[in-house]
Amino acid sequence: MRKPVVMGNWKLNGTKATVTDLIKAFSQSANNAANVDVAICAPAIFIGMVETLAAGSQLKYGSEDVDVHTSGAFTGENSPVMIKEFGATYAIVGHSERRGYHNETNEVVAAKFKAAQDNGLVPVLCIGESEAEYDAGKTVEVCNAEIKAVIDLCGIDAFKNAVIAYEPIWAIGTGKTATPDVAQNVHKQIRDYLKTFSAEVADGVRILYGGSCNAKTAPELFSQPDIDGGLIGGASLKVADFNAIIDAAKANA
Ligand code: PEP
Repeated sequence: MRKPVVMGNWKLNGTKATVTDLIKAFSQSANNAANVDVAICAPAIFIGMVETLAAGSQLKYGSEDVDVHTSGAFTGENSPVMIKEFGATYAIVGHSERRGYHNETNEVVAAKFKAAQDNGLVPVLCIGESEAEYDAGKTVEVCNAEIKAVIDLCGIDAFKNAVIAYEPIWAIGTGKTATPDVAQNVHKQIRDYLKTFSAEVADGVRILYGGSCNAKTAPELFSQPDIDGGLIGGASLKVADFNAIIDAAKANA
């Protein structure tokens, strides 16, 4: 049985005041959700605050990206060692906004995955196709290539301690959620692909759905057999919405 994860991705949002309010609220939510891993991935500048505010609670947290280097002359980057020092559990790698706006290739994302894992963070590998790729029937091909780059660099066993987030790019921040059937079908094919390397890894890895997931759509998405929770953007900035999504995961845990 895979423990569901509900993970917020705040992107480039937040102030000291909103971070305080949200982390206080979600620390309580996490304490009331023993059968769900509740986490927030925050802008790096707020991670120290999150550590203090979440102290003593079950809320986990992480970064939205990570550099491949641990230290040195890499101005503006955030080292996995530094992120770990602030008590983080997770590091998102390969979010489509990083792949798109920062030209991160599958190989760069794989290197970030490795750097995160080598330094004690659980990588959350984001994969997913564009609208044009979806229309061309290339969803599985794109997702498998994104996964294969990690397997080539780190080996299949790296997914024993990692999370995958399937996020169709056309669904992110657009209000167009993939239907439960479409999402389940892709999740199953991702798991089937992993099975060709290791059945044990494929059965154990948690695959989250992301893309305009909200309080209304989460219950049916999370009831699908291969959907193990969600990576949540916009709705993770609203207490009631994120709590409703956590409740949907609890109901399916
Ligand atoms: C995301 O950024 O990972 C995401 C899923 O965003 P949203 O929920 O806003 O579509």
